[in-house]
Amino acid sequence: MVWYYLNMFKFFVLNFQKGIKKIASNPQLIYTIIIAILITGSFVFMAEKFIGIANDAQERLINVRIGSLQDAFVSFASDKINDSEYLNNKIQNIINTNETIKSFKVIVKKTIIDPNTGMTPNSYVIIASNNPEEINKADNQSSFLYALASSDPNNSMTTPLNDNGERLFKTARAITDKAGNVLGVVMTTQTLSFADIAIQSSITNSRILLFIVIILILLLFLRHSRIIDYVDLYKKLKEVDQLKDDFISMASHELRTPLTIIRGYAEFASGAPELSSQTKDYISKIDMSTKELDSLVSDILDVSRIEQGRMSFKIAKINPSDMIEKVVASLILSAKEKGLNISFDKSKIENNQYINVDEDRLKQILVNLIGNAVKYTNKGEIIVRQYKEKERLYIRISDTGIGMTEEEKAKLFEKFYRIRIKETEEIRGTGLGLWITAKITREMNGGISVESIKGVGSHFIVSFPIVN
Ligand code: ADP
Repeated sequence: MVWYYLNMFKFFVLNFQKGIKKIASNPQLIYTIIIAILITGSFVFMAEKFIGIANDAQERLINVRIGSLQDAFVSFASDKINDSEYLNNKIQNIINTNETIKSFKVIVKKTIIDPNTGMTPNSYVIIASNNPEEINKADNQSSFLYALASSDPNNSMTTPLNDNGERLFKTARAITDKAGNVLGVVMTTQTLSFADIAIQSSITNSRILLFIVIILILLLFLRHSRIIDYVDLYKKLKEVDQLKDDFISMASHELRTPLTIIRGYAEFASGAPELSSQTKDYISKIDMSTKELDSLVSDILDVSRIEQGRMSFKIAKINPSDMIEKVVASLILSAKEKGLNISFDKSKIENNQYINVDEDRLKQILVNLIGNAVKYTNKGEIIVRQYKEKERLYIRISDTGIGMTEEEKAKLFEKFYRIRIKETEEIRGTGLGLWITAKITREMNGGISVESIKGVGSHFIVSFPIVN
């Protein structure tokens, strides 16, 4: 049993320490705790204040009401001070219509004959009351209030009482004749229990509300700490992501060296004398595959550079027409192999069409877009145009290829996106080219867009601001 409690205690201490550590390492949690304490505290404070105000208002209201009731009563009581029956009737009426009044009596000071003590002068005698049993009986307990009321005949005098937890108010008002002589005193006892019950129920309701608020705050707190857990998780994920990026970048660099060696030897071997046609075919396949692998490694390196913000640009002012011409020329052979026509329409080129770009990156953009046009066109032609419009230089690559739907077009510049249809089944690719192209175009202050009709062809348009 002792062990059980000891373990429980250990468990509690450990979790408490954990909680403190978590709070200390997360300033947001401290902030939430302070907010929770402030909300609860101000709620309790306000509730207490309202209860005080309500009590006060209740007391005032009751006193004002009894004051005016007594005023009315004394205004006729002086003429009827000897008419007990009349006074009792009036008192009964008042009692019937005021449920907070527990007792209402008229006391006069006179000499009575007591069976035990004989003649007792200046006794406080009840001459009318809502309680018939006390009529004509002495009430010496009221002597103090009687004296108080007699000392200030124009006002009601009130003293609070507590009868076993029940709050009572005893109020007295002198009955005077026309000359101002005190004939007697009207004395009322009122209970505040009705008001207290109402206030008590308000307090209970407030406490329930407070409880709900605290639960809500705790839930909020729980959610908040879960969000903080997610933030921790997110930080860790970012670290892992960074590690992955570093690894990819390092691995790609390391792949480059053996690839260059393979390509070098393949080229060397292809120049050897007396090669059989089969060997030549093998070597060209080695060369093709290493080229593909090389461009894949380049793409991966570019992706990691872009994502880590490490891509650098050597911006210079150029007219891109020479570059376009070169790229188009480099692709004539592959186009011819597919029976495609490829041309560069220079009809709209003007002398002063200069743009600020990195030449190598522009070449990368053109190779990718014109290369894709050849790749995804089976018959027809590819035309590249350069023209000026609204102070921008446009390069438009039009093909009569497979085209694409609006849905496919919408995802075109996403990383790794490839349109998987029958026509593209045999075409190899990674889905990285357009993502990289769009990123570097925008990095150089350019824009890229596509117009396409499924089965008819596509136009890829890149544009840059013209500089003077
Ligand atoms: P990859 O060509 O390596 O698949 P890209 O990012 O260059 O990657 O292109 C993404 C996809 O966009 C391609 O898989 C292809 O489906 C589609 N695409 C690109 N260019 C064209 C084009 N000129 N005509 C039709 N589809 C194209």
